Amino acid sequence: MGQAGDQKTGRGRLIIISGPSGVGKSTITRQLVARRAETYLSVSMTTRPQAAGEQDGRDYWFVSRDQFHQRIEAGTLLEYAEVFGNLYGTPRDKTQEMLAAGRTVILEIDVQGAKQVKAIYPRATTIFILPPSGKVLAERIGRRGREDGAVIARRLGGAGSEIAAAEQSYDHLVINDDLEQAIREVMEIIDNAPGIDAP
Ligand code: 5GP
Repeated sequence: MGQAGDQKTGRGRLIIISGPSGVGKSTITRQLVARRAETYLSVSMTTRPQAAGEQDGRDYWFVSRDQFHQRIEAGTLLEYAEVFGNLYGTPRDKTQEMLAAGRTVILEIDVQGAKQVKAIYPRATTIFILPPSGKVLAERIGRRGREDGAVIARRLGGAGSEIAAAEQSYDHLVINDDLEQAIREVMEIIDNAPGIDAP
């Protein structure tokens, strides 16, 4: 199987990337998209407020809670979960369309979402990104500067249990100590990932 997945049979790869807030998931996934043309990064729907510099339809689809609930009822979300008090979900159609086209689909979602997707697509590959240490994680979240102290504390509090859960259940753990090395490790995992069967 080549880097583009199995184009002939339309079986793309489904890659789930999770990790604590501030660990560098977005940087890594953006680099994957930049370096591999066959990669499609899923755009999630969320009820959280749009942050400065974020674009609707590029970073997320920003919707109200009512709109989100309508999506749930219509069955248009592949998975969804409440994370830090906001709802986040993966649009189902786009994911299926890209997989059918043989693309490598990246879902940057939390552990609850990963579990739901694995139940639907057992051959999805799960990768958890870890920080080199808790201290580095705290510094990175602080440096981002878009959140106040309470939010930072809540996110850090969540990180410990999330990491413990991940160590049990994820297919691969990657430590983001050196960014370039982490990107290479993730690319290697993706290259060896199986194509997924239709659910
Ligand atoms: P943030 O608000 O910092 O962009 O994301 C917060 C958390 O929500 C991150 O752990 C991120 O991986 C997760 N998340 C983003 N999109 C989705 C999604 O579609 N589904 C689920 N389950 N989690 C998501």
